[in-house]
Amino acid sequence: MREPPAAALAAVEPGSAAPAVEVLSAHKTYPNGTVALQPVELTVQDGEFVTLLGPSGCGKSTLLKMVAGLLAPTDGRLLLWRRPVQQLDATGKRMAFVFQAPTLMPWASVATNVRLPLDLAGVPRAEADRRVQDALALVGLAKFAAALPRNLSGGMQMRVSIARSLVVQPQLLLMDEPFGALDEITRHKLDADLLALWREKKLTVIFVTHSIHEAVFLSSRVVMMAARPGRIVEEVVIDEPYPRTPDFMVTPRFAEYARRLQESLLRASQDTEESLS
Ligand code: ADP
Ligand code: MG
Repeated sequence: MREPPAAALAAVEPGSAAPAVEVLSAHKTYPNGTVALQPVELTVQDGEFVTLLGPSGCGKSTLLKMVAGLLAPTDGRLLLWRRPVQQLDATGKRMAFVFQAPTLMPWASVATNVRLPLDLAGVPRAEADRRVQDALALVGLAKFAAALPRNLSGGMQMRVSIARSLVVQPQLLLMDEPFGALDEITRHKLDADLLALWREKKLTVIFVTHSIHEAVFLSSRVVMMAARPGRIVEEVVIDEPYPRTPDFMVTPRFAEYARRLQESLLRASQDTEESLS
């Protein structure tokens, strides 16, 4: 994969409305021959909340990890603000990744866990402590800085994990089934809080789920994927104003979006079964 010279990239005007994420014919075949993802085209504009929805094995995690630069595409390109992810520093923007499991250090306090990315980056302790406090306040855990992870509920541990991603002050948040292991009520609460955060911080979010309801509630746009081989099959714009409250979930419009996505998901699963036979 060859990148254009840095000078050409620097010609992008500062302040011009560059998309936050561009996936350009990126595809992935794992070394064992599994075609995890056929060539994908996807553009995410600054400030969008895009959800990747699809059956297990359709390449959602593969795509998200490639956007994050955690996984190299077999071919094709992935750009963040018009630059390859390896040159993210040059854009002055930051990205954070939230995994499904909170992966906290069990022996360390909540504050120490959240401070980890800043310690790794060599941020001076006083400033780091300030930012940790701010991040904990954003997720409603200001009073739990000294607690150990094991003394927190699953939902609170996930909040710690989100605070740890926010502490780097990212513009782009990549979330791979972050609330998948939580009970329904906790998940709804975290969904609502995430939306509030997205609006307050003007984040760009790419969110992965296999919950249709979660996708409709959160997203400005849903990207439906199918498996074997993984690919994008459809996009649905959720044309509903924000802020969205739980009331939205009991409206006919919500039901209509959910029905449309359900049909699309069924089609995606049928495609998968046919390609297996
Ligand atoms: P999803 O997140 O949508 O469930 P994944 O991106 O995890 O899908 O996986 C897509 C496909 O690639 C699946 O068939 C999966 O089994 C396969 N896969 C994922 N990771 C690897 C790997 N490291 N090596 C080989 N195959 C993999
Ligand atoms: Mg996955």
